[in-house]
Amino acid sequence: MQINDNYLNLKDSYLFSTIAKKVSQYKEKYPEKKVISLGIGDVTLPLCETVVEAMKNAVLEMGTKEGFRGYGPEQGYGFLKLAVMNYYKDRNISLDENEIFISDGAKSDLGNILDIFSQDNTVLIPDPVYPVYVDTNIMAGRKILYMDANEENNFLPMPDKNIKADIIYLCSPNNPTGAVYNKNQLKAWVDYALDCGAIILFDAAYEAFIQDKDCPRSIYEIEGAKKCAIEFCSLSKTAGFTGTRCGYTIVPNALIFDNTSLNKLWLRRQTTKFNGVPYIIQRGAEAVFTEKGQKEIKENIKYYLENARIISETLSKMGIWFVGGKNSPYIWLKCPNNMSSWEFFDYLLENANIVGTPGAGFGKNGEGFFRLSSFGNREDVIKAMEKISTIK
Ligand code: PLP
Repeated sequence: MQINDNYLNLKDSYLFSTIAKKVSQYKEKYPEKKVISLGIGDVTLPLCETVVEAMKNAVLEMGTKEGFRGYGPEQGYGFLKLAVMNYYKDRNISLDENEIFISDGAKSDLGNILDIFSQDNTVLIPDPVYPVYVDTNIMAGRKILYMDANEENNFLPMPDKNIKADIIYLCSPNNPTGAVYNKNQLKAWVDYALDCGAIILFDAAYEAFIQDKDCPRSIYEIEGAKKCAIEFCSLSKTAGFTGTRCGYTIVPNALIFDNTSLNKLWLRRQTTKFNGVPYIIQRGAEAVFTEKGQKEIKENIKYYLENARIISETLSKMGIWFVGGKNSPYIWLKCPNNMSSWEFFDYLLENANIVGTPGAGFGKNGEGFFRLSSFGNREDVIKAMEKISTIK
C-alpha cells in the first residue's frame, strides 16, 4: 500500500494557531486589557428570522408520515434550484435547472471539482490567495503557476498572454484582499480563457457584498463566460450559513472540453460521491431567496459593510494604503513604516490591543500586508478604530 505522497508536499499552516498562541500569551501577561479581534473570517450575526422559520417548518414536516423525506436528489431539490434560477434571472442571467448543483458550501465543491480534470493540467492561481485552491492542487500533484497580486495592480492580476494555463482560479470579491474585478477586467479574463482553451473556476462566495454596478456579481454577466467558467457560490457569508452549510455551483451546459460536457461529468461525480444537502437546510436556503429573506440578509450585509466603511475611513485618515472594504467584508492594508506582516501584528496587539491577520499567511505577496475583517460587532469596530488612530 502506498499513500498519496503529494500530501507530503503540503506546507503546514501555522497562521491561525500562531495568532491564537500570541493572543493567549498577551492576555496572560495583561489580563486587564480587552483585546478586540478584527481577524475573524467567520460571520457573527445570527440566521435571519425567515430562514429560522423555514427550517422549523421543515423539521416539523419531517416528523410527519406525509412530509418525511429520505435521500433527496444529490444535486439538490427542485424548489431550491428554482429559487437560485430566479436569483440569477433578476440579474438577466438565464440558467437551466440542470446547470445548478446545490452543495454543502463552496469549499467542498472548490476542492471536489478537481476530480473531473486531468492531473496533467497546469493551474494558475493568484498570490496572495484563499489557501484551499493551492492545497487541493498540491494534493493532486498538479503543476501550479502563480500570478502576482500586488500594490501595482491593486491586487487584481490580469492575464498574461505569455503564460499558458489550463485551470484558472479567480476570486472576486477576494479573500484575503477584498479587491473586486470590474466588468472590463473580468471580460479580459474570459477572453483569455476562451482564447487558450482554459477553464475559469470563479469563486463568488462574497458576491452579495458587491455594491458597485460596474463590478459583476456573477462571471456570467460577461459574454462568453458560459463557455469557459464554473461559478462557486455560498450562503456562508451571504446569509450566515457558515455553520448551517449550503452553497451552489453553476456548471453551464455550454462547457464542452475534449468533446465532453463538464456538466455531465460533474453530475456523475456528485451522484457517485455526494448524497445531497439535508432537506431542512435546503428549505432554510430557499427562504434566503424570498423577498423577505433577501430584505433581512441585506440588513446584515449592510451592517458588515458599515463596519468596513468605518475601518476604511480611519485608515484613509491615517494615510494608510489599502484595498477592499467597499464591496467586500475584508480590508487589506499595507503595514506602515515598512513593517513585516508579523511585526505589524505584534505592534497592533501591543499598542492597540487589536488582532488582525498577517498577510504573509496567504502567500509571498502578502508579506508586508495585513487583513482586517468587518465581521465583528459595531462597538468593537468603533473602539478598535479609536485605538488604532492614536498609534504612531
Ligand atoms: N471561498 C472563499 C474565498 C472563502 O473565503 C470561503 C470561506 O471563508 C469559502 C470559499 C468557503 O465557503 P463555504 O463556507 O461555503 O465552504
